[in-house]
Amino acid sequence: MKETLELRINYDYAHLLFKADEGKNLGTAVKLVELSKDDPRYRQVPIIAEEVRKKYDRGFFFGWQIKRNYSKKELDTATLLHLKIKVVFEPTGEDCGTLYDETTACEICGANRKQSRPLILIKGMIPKKDIARTIGGEVVVSEKFVKAARQRNLKGLQLSPINVEKYYQLTANTELELLPKTIVGINPFDLSTSDDGEIYKCPKGDTIGLNLLSEPYVADNPLIKEFDFFASRQKLGVKRGLLRPEPIYFCSPAFRKMIEEEKLSGFEFEITKIE
Ligand SMILES: [Zn+2]
Repeated sequence: MKETLELRINYDYAHLLFKADEGKNLGTAVKLVELSKDDPRYRQVPIIAEEVRKKYDRGFFFGWQIKRNYSKKELDTATLLHLKIKVVFEPTGEDCGTLYDETTACEICGANRKQSRPLILIKGMIPKKDIARTIGGEVVVSEKFVKAARQRNLKGLQLSPINVEKYYQLTANTELELLPKTIVGINPFDLSTSDDGEIYKCPKGDTIGLNLLSEPYVADNPLIKEFDFFASRQKLGVKRGLLRPEPIYFCSPAFRKMIEEEKLSGFEFEITKIE
């Protein structure tokens, strides 16, 4: 696996670390660069960011994304995959009138509220993909996905009809425990557990951080061999407006095989480490 970090650098200060012809200019405000972790400049990023903040009160980079490139063999031999849902949309179920019981939610981080009625979404606002999630963490799948999963008898998926025809809500019946080796934080250079009054690491242990920064590590569990779809017990993210801490998802090789063979869209796979 080769890991790189894609950074959206503030163009005004890009010259402090990058050559003029490096990366890709997105308009005149942003330079998109990809850095390998072994690139000596990787360690320079937070140092320069601090300088730019102190001197000009500006950000050195606006956004970031960790990219992991696996070989076909690595993916084909993995026991458990980290399933990433590529497309996020609005409005959320809550926005559309889905009922939630907030009395079950953690009073500190807001995790684990209970959805008490079927999911309500707006027809026409759901992306034309076989999987997508709202910014509130509700996951919907297409009828094509549901048919394929039933045909192959995949286990551990809870599929509930929603108000929009041909879409279903997907939740997991089984939770896996994330291990402390899993790295979480605000960004790759800032592992702070709180910021600006927001708490990213709940003292109760239900929410562990704002963003996932490493591959997930989960505790070995006999259920991993038995089911095809799981959620993490611990949540990531923050309660902010319609956002809520949400789990990450895992799936079996059989699940991934189905996605590839049926050419279902919206899925991305990385590897989960089991220890
Ligand atoms: Zn909590």
